[in-house]
Amino acid sequence: MSDIKVVTIADNEEYLRQVSLPVDFNDKSLKKDIAVLDKYCKEEEVLAMAAVQLGIPKRIIYLKNTNLDIVNKIQDDSVSLEEKNYNEARVLINPVIISREGLTDYWEACASCLDNFGHVRRPYKIMLEYFDIDGNKHREIFEGFEATVLSHEYDHLDGILHMDIADEVFVMKAEDRKKFRLEHGYNIVSKTGDYEELMKNSEKTKNKAKS
Ligand SMILES: [Zn+2]
Repeated sequence: MSDIKVVTIADNEEYLRQVSLPVDFNDKSLKKDIAVLDKYCKEEEVLAMAAVQLGIPKRIIYLKNTNLDIVNKIQDDSVSLEEKNYNEARVLINPVIISREGLTDYWEACASCLDNFGHVRRPYKIMLEYFDIDGNKHREIFEGFEATVLSHEYDHLDGILHMDIADEVFVMKAEDRKKFRLEHGYNIVSKTGDYEELMKNSEKTKNKAKS
């Protein structure tokens, strides 16, 4: 277990609700902040973290594991030690989503949201602008499961939690969540099309089914 403490909704929900500040590359503590994220993600079974979750309210995202094959193996405990230590160590600073395409859904958990387990719909594909640790600007497309993980962390930077936007939330312990995900895995509804439109349409279909 890491000695770095994650901020949860139980100890300070207000803190998690803040909008994180853009990173200033002259800020001398930036390297130290990233080292905190790196250490925590290496020591804990997380997919990614936003800095604010570790008490650093700056617009920094750390991606550890966006590999769906490995994530699925974690669910059924068939993961090897090498896969368990898998770490992409991707640091995204001051990220801005340029466009969202397609639609997916997944049962998400969050280190800050305790046992709240939410069914969330996210884009299949994201075009992102961000800076790396050296201050170089990049434009990159994130696709599939990595777009889901990235969207979840991106929301943290604006104080939004997965349970806020989920269409269903269960309170479920980690072990039960793993079992549940074996039957309810990552689902691609559409790889193309405008995300906002697809969300609106799926909302309509849901309401129709209810009435
Ligand atoms: Zn989270």
